[in-house]
Amino acid sequence: MNIPARTWVEISRGQLAANFRNICKVVGEGVAVSPVVKADAYGHGAVEVSRLLVAEGARWLAVSCVAEGVALREADIGCRILVMGGMLPFEREAAWGADLTPVIHSFEDLRELDALGVARPVHFKVDTGMTRLGARAGAGEVVEALRSLRALRVEGLMSHFASAEHLTSDQSDVQMERFRAVCDAVRAAGFAPDLLHFSSTNGLAYGRRGAWHSLVRPGLALYGYISPSSGTSGPLTLSVKPVLSWRARLVGVKDIPEGTLVGYGGRFRAPKPMRIGVIAAGYADGVPHRLSNRGHVVAGGRLVPILGAVSMDLTTIDLSESRHLGVGDAVTLIGSEGEVSVDAQQIAETAGEISYSVLCGIGNRVRRVYT
Ligand SMILES: *Cc1c(COP(=O)(O)O)cnc(C)c1O
Repeated sequence: MNIPARTWVEISRGQLAANFRNICKVVGEGVAVSPVVKADAYGHGAVEVSRLLVAEGARWLAVSCVAEGVALREADIGCRILVMGGMLPFEREAAWGADLTPVIHSFEDLRELDALGVARPVHFKVDTGMTRLGARAGAGEVVEALRSLRALRVEGLMSHFASAEHLTSDQSDVQMERFRAVCDAVRAAGFAPDLLHFSSTNGLAYGRRGAWHSLVRPGLALYGYISPSSGTSGPLTLSVKPVLSWRARLVGVKDIPEGTLVGYGGRFRAPKPMRIGVIAAGYADGVPHRLSNRGHVVAGGRLVPILGAVSMDLTTIDLSESRHLGVGDAVTLIGSEGEVSVDAQQIAETAGEISYSVLCGIGNRVRRVYT
């Protein structure tokens, strides 16, 4: 049954395509762009987003785990799919069955797959200083490992920045130097992986061209956000705009006298007679609980405060200045009404989070509508 939604996100196909095209234009013809669609495309819907990007010419997509890749194959996404977050032994069969391309993070895994006679392309990740996944290894060990392989084909070598947006630290330069040393040694030893890749959004947006190589892996920028830099940045290389806006309907409106306590814990006390509205979205839908008594939404074209604690399914807002709004009307949690807007970056700053976690946090109950 098709019940109209009480809270939904509108995802602009046009803006998503425009962001992708801008990224392609910035990196230029010689650099492939592999959109990152992990975590349900950062809350935007992996299948819809992937279909659109493939139609726009994407030849690679990147996901975190095998299950995400399999879900794309089940939706008939046919392009190459890179699995970045590791492949556990019990995931291998599914990965090969769905023709996914895993990133291998250790020499042990590389040698084990080779010994099993797996004659498939994989990418190998070098930990150049992020200190998460990837082999913490120098050029010599990588060359030696490549030399030992019989069946497995290392099609790509990659790494990942820890702080590409930190413009005052030399961590990124150190990482790039280490990767460059590995790539040079591998090439000198006669191996020529088709793809070298290092940069996600920050490496692109903050112009670390020496780390674009032959492929880039943007996630956040596709969805229209770029994390703020620390240290002064020159003009941003990349111009993108948010793809998603989020709305919720009012399910209750009432007038309260001065002194009334609002919501769990009575964390807000009305300093004067007020009109309040209750909207159909709470922390189960991804409204950060940390927005309690501090966040804002756009209601009736103006920015209005969240009153008291955000609860699981509902959030209370101040409608004293938006008296024309009634039950069933929609307000905006992310997006704009006229000149007034709230975006995921602002929410993140208020809530002490990052724009990534705000977008990924938008819950399943929030319907995805593509425009
Ligand atoms: C998530 C991820 C990306 C995309 O990062 P953004 O900052 O969203 O562009 C790229 N590479 C790896 C390895 C990742 O885990």
